[in-house]
Amino acid sequence: MHSPFQNAMTQLDKAAKIIQLDSDIHEMLKHPDRVTRASIPVKMDNGQVQMFTAYRSQYNNARGVYKGGIRYHPNVTEDEVMALSFWMMIKCATVDIPMGGAKGGVIVNSKELSKGELERLSRGYVQKLWPLLGSQIDVPAPDVYTTPEIMAWMRDEFEEIVGRPDPGMITGKPIESGGSEGRGFSTAQGGVYCLRELVKKMSWNPQNTTIAIQGFGNAGSFMAKILQKEGYRIVALSDSKGGIKISNDKFLISSIEEYKEKVGTVLGFPETVEITNEQLLELPVDILVPAALENQITKENATQIQAKVIVELANGPTTPEADEIFKQKNILLVPDVLANAGGVTVSYFEWDQNVKGEHWTEEVVFQKLEKIMINSFQAVWNTKEKYGIDMRTAAFVLAVERIAKAMKK
Ligand code: NAD
Repeated sequence: MHSPFQNAMTQLDKAAKIIQLDSDIHEMLKHPDRVTRASIPVKMDNGQVQMFTAYRSQYNNARGVYKGGIRYHPNVTEDEVMALSFWMMIKCATVDIPMGGAKGGVIVNSKELSKGELERLSRGYVQKLWPLLGSQIDVPAPDVYTTPEIMAWMRDEFEEIVGRPDPGMITGKPIESGGSEGRGFSTAQGGVYCLRELVKKMSWNPQNTTIAIQGFGNAGSFMAKILQKEGYRIVALSDSKGGIKISNDKFLISSIEEYKEKVGTVLGFPETVEITNEQLLELPVDILVPAALENQITKENATQIQAKVIVELANGPTTPEADEIFKQKNILLVPDVLANAGGVTVSYFEWDQNVKGEHWTEEVVFQKLEKIMINSFQAVWNTKEKYGIDMRTAAFVLAVERIAKAMKK
């Protein structure tokens, strides 16, 4: 298996070849602008100091300030942070928001920290990296195991250090600390706008369209609820413990959500049949939505997948080998850099509101989001048709063209 950064470079080379990208720009895009590593000392509750390794990769800011989340995970590596910052650059350019790409990470199992330790670690991240951050330089956000509360601590620490308010230095904040309306379900809502456009292209109607969703967390559960409200048939769901096939799809998804909150899993919900996560991926549905983790669809299971369309709500759920298999099987895939870009788009709205000193209603946020998602879907679709390529490559082609134009300017 290649490293995430090697995979990212393979995707870049593929897009560069199609558009005959200027060789100097191509070479520059193979390297992040800057990768910073810091060691953060944290006074633990037992009185001893423990050191944590942290990263910030600022890939490219040709189109606007650096933008990307901070991940707390024991498996964070410099290679992964670089790849994620590259993909953020591609994602922002795919949906044409004026931001570049960055990503941060700390090697830590945050579940083992007390709340006080977590706060000191988060403030420590800013103490070490603050000269690189700010609303006009680089704007972090939440990612895996980082929360709105952590964003509020980071904003507070930054403003203490620089001695002035700068609410736009970070996004994904709680509403009371300058967050945007709608951020909590913006990723799912953006995915729904893409899925709707796709259903129109296929000339399907929601009432006859069956959908299986892998992962019933923030992204997956909101997606399931919104789609059901719009009349789509959610026929299977899963979480880390396994999946369920829903025989009576008139059940409200919100009652499954309540059940999961009580029991800790979707397994055992009435009038459902237990299935494995592997079986869920291979069901004969119209649309499969991976909304859990990376590398779920690989060359080992891609040949068994029967869905006609895949909408990637998770980041990186499909390996490059599985992409090739889908091409041969004529399965249409809406890539993560487009399908889950609703999250970063509303982060951009948060930054924009903070910089202008405004607070928009949820209605305004989603009107703006819908317009961006529909235009982006159409632009990727047109690029796919123009070059006769898959939608992932089309998104990369579109994004790289936009980034190259900005770099040349
Ligand atoms: P989450 O932690 O809230 O939910 C993840 C869900 O996946 C949980 O229900 C978990 O039980 C389930 N899961 C874990 N392992 C599984 C497995 N092997 N099979 C099936 N289910 C499994 O996370 P989230 O915020 O919903 O993020 C999910 C994906 O969406 C991630 O790839 C994330 O990077 C991506 N994403 C999320 C956002 C966002 O705003 N939340 C934005 C962009 C991308």
